[in-house]
Amino acid sequence: MDIITTVREMQRLRSSWLSLSSVGLVPTMGYLHEGHLSLVRRARAENDKVVVSIFVNPIQFGAHEDLERYPRDLPRDLHLLEESGVDAVLVPTASEMYPPTFITYVEPSGPLASEAEGASRPGHFRGVATVVLKLFNIVQPQRAYFGQKDAQQVAVIKALVADLNLPVELVIMPTVREPDGLAMSSRNSYLSPEGRRAATVLYRALLAGKAAYEQGVSDGPAGVVRVMREIVASEPLARLVYADVRDPETFQPLETLRAPALLVIAAFVEAARLIDNVLLRPDGSWETGLIVSSS
Ligand code: AMP
Repeated sequence: MDIITTVREMQRLRSSWLSLSSVGLVPTMGYLHEGHLSLVRRARAENDKVVVSIFVNPIQFGAHEDLERYPRDLPRDLHLLEESGVDAVLVPTASEMYPPTFITYVEPSGPLASEAEGASRPGHFRGVATVVLKLFNIVQPQRAYFGQKDAQQVAVIKALVADLNLPVELVIMPTVREPDGLAMSSRNSYLSPEGRRAATVLYRALLAGKAAYEQGVSDGPAGVVRVMREIVASEPLARLVYADVRDPETFQPLETLRAPALLVIAAFVEAARLIDNVLLRPDGSWETGLIVSSS
């Protein structure tokens, strides 16, 4: 496994692979968990070469967010990736990605970029789209792997690929959950034991919203949102940021209960800002993620 810290080195290695048929890229911010590893395993199964990037992208964090304290453990991450059979890990520094001369950003626009996550994290998706395009250009993967856990990020990246005609296939993997339903996240490490118990409230709210959806609450999406809000309000350690029913591609709020639909939620539990979602597919089946066994 090669450990690469410069764009140049990555490009050189990529050129040496030109004759090979496929390269898969898994972009991450590190502090890896089973969610990340499920993406890596799928990439490993589908490609001749697998590149994982570990980069805590400063431009997708707001001024008062957790950039400085975002958890990091590079030796452990490298060990896990080596064990997973990854060919190269791209670990660039911030100045490698954004030298002082850097002036060009990718700016997604419209509701997709400005509502839900976009509303509470202004500039977030500009940072995401910019770094993802850079990583695609540096690594030139045929396939790139992302988690449904970050549903709005998935929608933004799908738009990026379509709008800019990027020659990459996106593979979206289900949300991997702890045995009690909490979506795995590097940010779960911020939680105290009480906070960790309280954090299941996001999943519980989504399941209650799903049940309300299935029963066809009389006031439609507003009723589903009310049910989700009530569950979060019952948890003293949680503070709701938003709970919505949205179109999974445009992120427009839904006015009627129909499929496809995305139930999205964001809440602070102690100092951790957590997000989660469940998806109602066009065929009427739900994607709620995969719960790992506790053994
Ligand atoms: P992050 O390191 O949090 O930026 O995540 C890197 C990639 O892993 C993104 O595509 C995430 O959507 C994905 N990911 C994060 N958590 C999970 C999870 N619990 N299940 C599946 N994918 C995940």
